[in-house]
Amino acid sequence: MRVLITNDDGIDAPGLAILEQAARTISDDVWVVAPATEQSGQSQAVTLADPLRIAKLGARRYAVDGTPADCVTMALNVVMESAPDLVLSGVNQGFNIADDMPYSGTVGAALHAASAGVRAMAFSQAYKRLGQELDEEIWGAARAHCAGTLKTLLAIEQPRGMALNVNFPPVPGEAVKGLAVVRQGLRAVNEIFAEDRTDVRGNPYYWVRFRRDAGEVAPDTDLGAMANAQISVTPLRADLTDMAALGPLADALAE
Ligand code: MN
Repeated sequence: MRVLITNDDGIDAPGLAILEQAARTISDDVWVVAPATEQSGQSQAVTLADPLRIAKLGARRYAVDGTPADCVTMALNVVMESAPDLVLSGVNQGFNIADDMPYSGTVGAALHAASAGVRAMAFSQAYKRLGQELDEEIWGAARAHCAGTLKTLLAIEQPRGMALNVNFPPVPGEAVKGLAVVRQGLRAVNEIFAEDRTDVRGNPYYWVRFRRDAGEVAPDTDLGAMANAQISVTPLRADLTDMAALGPLADALAE
């Protein structure tokens, strides 16, 4: 099985190494084509106004100065001798659940691959709070369960065009309580705001941040799975149509 790995945290990110290790337990034909620099929050963005450059860092290992989706494009069209059977994205540092999904470069790469007809999965590791020390500890669940989860998911049929979004809960490996197939949740509060700072020359600059409150957490959602120390698995599609609204909208406009 030919496997392509990418991510949005950049090619040197510790989560990518964990996913690579897991991939090598199922294949000896593993390729890495990942962003040269961090691309978190880039969703499925593609670079159109600038050219892409690529650096070969080793055997089957390349860094692209573009987005995660650009990496998939470069891998499929330029780098790989033949198409991969599987695209793995991650392991992202931080969860990609609920309202995070539209922003996630990790998920964006997987959706990009799925849209190109390649089987795809996104992996993310939740950790407890902003400002927590980013030491080895936050990766406990991913380290212990990434390879096993990958094997479990590969054993099932995955329809063309579907991407699987997998999140490891913020607990040590031995505290993980299995796998839960769940829907995407929505937080009670999910606001983006810009926090101001002052640079050394006295000029203002801003950091975009999230203000979040999960509120009441439904147990059948990815938010619920994280709270229950379960590994969440959510099937995604690039099709964003609000199916429930389609009929009523057509009816309303026909009147
Ligand atoms: Mn990221």
